[in-house]
Amino acid sequence: MVEIASTEPEYIKLVKGPEARHEEMLREIEENCRKANLPLKEGSLNLVFGKGNPRAKIMFIGEAAGRNEDEQGIPFVGAAGKNLDNLLAKVGLTLNDVYIANILKYRPPENRNPLPEEIKTHTPWLIEQIKLIKPKVICSLGNYSTKFFLADGNVEKMDSMQGITQVHGKAKEIDFHGLKIKLIPLFHPAAIIYNRGLMGLWENDMAVVKAEISQKG
Ligand code: URA
Repeated sequence: MVEIASTEPEYIKLVKGPEARHEEMLREIEENCRKANLPLKEGSLNLVFGKGNPRAKIMFIGEAAGRNEDEQGIPFVGAAGKNLDNLLAKVGLTLNDVYIANILKYRPPENRNPLPEEIKTHTPWLIEQIKLIKPKVICSLGNYSTKFFLADGNVEKMDSMQGITQVHGKAKEIDFHGLKIKLIPLFHPAAIIYNRGLMGLWENDMAVVKAEISQKG
């Protein structure tokens, strides 16, 4: 488990209030992650940790950074990211409503698929993000992210999970590290660029997401 170091006296935390403390804790997790000796770190330009509202009720979890994300240190800023922005805007969601992160925190060379060992070593940081943000809904983008959550974070079980084609848009209540979360698997926004035929399915799936978040207030 990740230690969240705090050197601040208790009265400073009280003066700043719980909301400021929450964002600060997320930054601390990010800084600890930056210091960790993770696989892929050496060949990468930047850590790609997360973006959006740390108090969002909905998280979108992709697979791994591509070239643009690696250059900027921000998830989903390339072509797939622009598509994700457009797809979210269609249902009235902005970056202020969501928090976006990836399974891997560094870019795999040539955007190859994540290896089991990389998923095992990188996802404890994702789990820390989720435990702090406490989303009501997680939208897993594409196969790797979906299988990770369906397998309860057990990387050995991921291969035997159903793929995104079978489970997209099917909301599932999961108990993830003590949090009750509605998992809604979605096609990866990059897949929709290459196969426009998936757009109708994405729109139907986003109707499920909309219904879920309006229920939660
Ligand atoms: N694809 C992903 O899964 N994540 C990113 O950050 C960019 C592209």
